Amino acid sequence: MTKIYNFSAGPAVLPRAVLERAQSEMIDWHGSGMSVMEMSHRGKEFTGILNKTETDLRTLLNIPQNYKVLFLQGGAIAENAAIPMNLLGSGEADYVVTGAWSKRSVEDASAYGKINVVASSAAENFTHVPAFDCWNLNPNAAYLHICTNETINGVEFDGLPDAGNVPIVADMSSHILSRPIDVNQYGVIYGGAQKNIGPAGLCIVIVREDLLDRALPITPAVFNWKTQSENQSMINTPPTYSIYIAGLVFEWLLSLGGVEAIEKINIKKAGLLYDYIDSTDFYFNKVAVKNRSRMNIPFFLKDESLNDAFLKGAEAQGLLQLKGHRMVGGMRASIYNAMPIEGVEALIHYMQQFEKAH
Ligand SMILES: *Cc1c(COP(=O)(O)O)cnc(C)c1O
Repeated sequence: MTKIYNFSAGPAVLPRAVLERAQSEMIDWHGSGMSVMEMSHRGKEFTGILNKTETDLRTLLNIPQNYKVLFLQGGAIAENAAIPMNLLGSGEADYVVTGAWSKRSVEDASAYGKINVVASSAAENFTHVPAFDCWNLNPNAAYLHICTNETINGVEFDGLPDAGNVPIVADMSSHILSRPIDVNQYGVIYGGAQKNIGPAGLCIVIVREDLLDRALPITPAVFNWKTQSENQSMINTPPTYSIYIAGLVFEWLLSLGGVEAIEKINIKKAGLLYDYIDSTDFYFNKVAVKNRSRMNIPFFLKDESLNDAFLKGAEAQGLLQLKGHRMVGGMRASIYNAMPIEGVEALIHYMQQFEKAH
């Protein structure tokens, strides 16, 4: 059988070792006689899983004690609405638009108050992050929202602006745990799990404690960070199986040496692919070099009439889900933590073959 490499942007590839572990524990978790799916979320088995999952995430990201970790449902899109409900009060918020997802965040937040777009790369088709000194920041903003890795456009931040005392709220859905971060630089970090963490259905929110007292009275309890943090993310049933798998992924990352170790591998994987794309004029990538994402790599064939043949040939070699997002076109290879370097090598090998043949 052809070896399959799945380049989907999300839901996406998971580590083989994690899937095998989940398979072995599927029917009888640790001698409990139950599958994790069948357990009460308030029982001692699942409470243990949740606590270990949180502890391991805290270790991986070096999360300080004054930050709460929430395991919520509704995905990053639900949090786009929860953010203004929890933080905006009667004030205004700054948003920076660097791609399709941050643009969506502005749309989702605008229902709850005054949202100011203080920088945007829309005019350049989202191919870079606007220089920080051109951001029109409001020192009295309730918060500053950014998306640090634009999954669709393949644009990743290469640093953070100085926002003074304004808390930075970052959508990290598609690159959380791909590189070390300093959590202290953020007020809130959030991300859907189905890109770089685990199955869909789980959204992780990391929020600084002092930001928990600002929710609008209309905030539903399930999206109220304070209520959720006081109830260990169990104001209702949390996505238990997704949390369990996320926990296995965290253990896998720790066994590899943590985020510092996976970053080295990610730099190598992305470097191989970008170097090859840059070495030929058969393919190209439009993103400014310093903002090229290590996780999501859009690329184009110079001759777009070959797109269908490229995808068909790729599929025949087990290289799946390479079609670019409809908003961008071309191709996109998502190479998250769980994509082995062999997958990137197989893709490059195929791209070389295809170039020779055409
Ligand atoms: C996928 C994605 C989203 C949407 O996530 P859902 O879980 O579908 O709500 C938001 N932001 C970014 C950066 C994403 O990659």
